[in-house]
Amino acid sequence: MVDKSVNYHRLENIEDVEEFYAAIDRSNLTKSLSDERPYTYWTIELYDQENGIRGGGGLGILAADTRRVADKMNVPLTLVTLFYPFEPHQTLEDGQVVDSHTPVSYESHGFSFIDTVNIKCCDQLCSLEAIEKRFNSTRILCVTEPNLGELYSGESGSDHRLYQEVALGFGGYQALKMVGLRPAIIQLNEVATFFAALARLDELASSGMDFYEAVVYTRKHTLYTNHTLVQAAEAEFSYDQFERYVFSNLKSKAVKKWLSDKFENGRIKLSSVTIEIAELRSGVSRLHARVANYQDIAGEKVKFKAVTNGIDLQKWLLPEILNFYQNADVLDKFYFPTDSSHHQIDQSLSSEKIRELKTLGRKILNSELENRTNHRGEKILLPENALVFDFKRRFVDYKRPWLPFSNPTKLKQILEKSDAYYILAARVHSGDNNMVERLKQLLQTVDSDPFLREHVHYIPDYDEKLAYALSVGSNVAINTPIVGLEACGTSWMKDVGNLNLLISTHDGGVADCPPDSYLNISGQTEEEEIASLYSRMSEATDAWSNDFDLEFLLKKQLSAYLPTISGTRMLKEYLNYLFPKQ
Ligand SMILES: *Cc1c(COP(=O)(O)O)cnc(C)c1O
Repeated sequence: MVDKSVNYHRLENIEDVEEFYAAIDRSNLTKSLSDERPYTYWTIELYDQENGIRGGGGLGILAADTRRVADKMNVPLTLVTLFYPFEPHQTLEDGQVVDSHTPVSYESHGFSFIDTVNIKCCDQLCSLEAIEKRFNSTRILCVTEPNLGELYSGESGSDHRLYQEVALGFGGYQALKMVGLRPAIIQLNEVATFFAALARLDELASSGMDFYEAVVYTRKHTLYTNHTLVQAAEAEFSYDQFERYVFSNLKSKAVKKWLSDKFENGRIKLSSVTIEIAELRSGVSRLHARVANYQDIAGEKVKFKAVTNGIDLQKWLLPEILNFYQNADVLDKFYFPTDSSHHQIDQSLSSEKIRELKTLGRKILNSELENRTNHRGEKILLPENALVFDFKRRFVDYKRPWLPFSNPTKLKQILEKSDAYYILAARVHSGDNNMVERLKQLLQTVDSDPFLREHVHYIPDYDEKLAYALSVGSNVAINTPIVGLEACGTSWMKDVGNLNLLISTHDGGVADCPPDSYLNISGQTEEEEIASLYSRMSEATDAWSNDFDLEFLLKKQLSAYLPTISGTRMLKEYLNYLFPKQ
C-alpha cells in the first residue's frame, strides 16, 4: 500500500474528518486511500439530475447517493460511468405509453472535456470523449460519444449492450489513468461493469506482474455488489461477440486465455466471471444477501456480505425535517443516528411537529405538481390537509403496483372515509407489453368511477424530483413487492425519513427490521396479502386522524429504521469491509 496521507486542505473543518475516520475505527484508511488512489465506483447507470444525468431507477439513485455521502465525509471516491447523449422521458397519450428521448450536453452540466480514449470494436478503433466533473473529495468521470445510445438500449445480451459495457470498462479505465488515478478499490455496481476489473487485471498482467499475482491482486481489490436474485435471469454473451468487442482490447495473452477458459458451450455469463475476479462480494440488504442464489465456476454457493443500501439524507429529507433531527440530537453532524436517538425521538417528535413539517412538505409537492399533469392531461392540486397515499416506483410486475386496485370498491371505501387521495407515479418499460396493458386497465377502472376519477391520479415521467416531492408531501407510502424479489429498495427509505407511514410487505431492506416496526402486509397467498393491505390502509387513515396513534407509529418506525436508511452507515460498512483492521 502506498503511504500517502490524504490532504484535507479543501475541507473547512478538519476535526470533523478525523472524527469520522476515528468513528469507523480504521486509522489505516488514510494510508489506503488518497486523492491519487481513490475508491473507484463503477456503474452503468447513474441517476443524478442535479448533475445532468437521468437514470432508470434505484441502481442509479444508489450510485449518486454513494458519491454524495462520500463527498460529505471527504472520502476520495471517483465514480466512473457513461454519459448517455439522450435521456428518456415518458408520457401517456390516450392511455398509451409514449417514450421520447431528448438530447443532453455535458458542457451545460458542468462537465469538462479531458481527452479522447480509444477502444477496439469489430476491427475498428472507436474514439470516446473522457469528461469529468469534480466536487470536494469526489469526481464523476465519464466516457461518451454521439452514438453511445441510451441507457439500457437494446436487449441485454445484444452487441450494443456489450459495446456500452466495454466502453465503460476499458474506456473508463483509460480515462482514470489519464487523470493520474490508480484505484485503491474497484467497486462493481452489478456485473455490467465487469470490464473495469478486467482492464485492471490486463494492465497488471501486461506490465510485468506475474499473471497469478495479478489475478490475486485484482481479486483482493475488487468488490462485486449484487442486486439481482437469480443468476439464471442474467443475459449471456457468445464467444463470437467477445471476439468482436472484448479480446481485441486485451494486451495480455494470459488474460485472454484466462477469459476464454470461462466460456461454457461458447457462452459466458458476466456474473460467473465477475465472481472469479472479485473476492469481495456484497448484497444490498440482509435478506437479499442471504437469498441471492449464485454459484461460482466450481459450483459452490457464493456468499454475499450484507451491506444494506442507504440514502443521502441531506438530499432526500425535507430540510426542515433534517434540521429538526439534528437540533433534537436524533442525528449527528454526519447524519448518523446518535447513541441516544431512540430517546430523543421519543422526547421530541410530537404529533403537532409532525403535522407542521408535513404541511411544509405538502406545499413542495403541490408546487412540483404545478409542472405536471395526470394521465388525462389535467393539472392537480392536493388540498393542504387531505390525506395522501402514494405508490412511486418503476411499474414492473414484481412490485405489484396494481395490488391496491384489486378490489376497487374496497379502495373507494377507504379513500371515501377520509376524502383521501391516491397518487401513482411510475415508469413503465415500454417493451413490457404485459405491464403497459395492466396500467391501461388500471386507469380505465379509475376513470370509470366518478369518485376514483377525482381522487386517484397517475403521474407519468416519474423521476427524482417527483420522488422527492411525494416523499416530503404525502402521508402514507405503499410498497408491495412479492416477498423475496426486492433486493433492497430505497423509495421507502425516503418515506420513512420524511415521516410517512409505511405500508409494506416484509421484503428487501424493509426486512432488516422486525415486521412490527411499520404497517406490515402479511399473508401466505395474494388474497390474504390484499386483505392485509386494505386493513393497513384503513389503519393508516385512522392514525392520521388520531394524534396519539400517529405519534406512536411514527416514533416506532423512525427509531427502528434511522440507522438503516442512513447513507453514512452504508459508507461506513463498505469502508470497514474493504479496509479491514490489520
Ligand atoms: C428512489 C428512487 C428509485 C428507487 O426505487 P426503488 O423501487 O425503491 O428501488 C427509483 N427511481 C427514482 C426516480 C427514485 O427517486
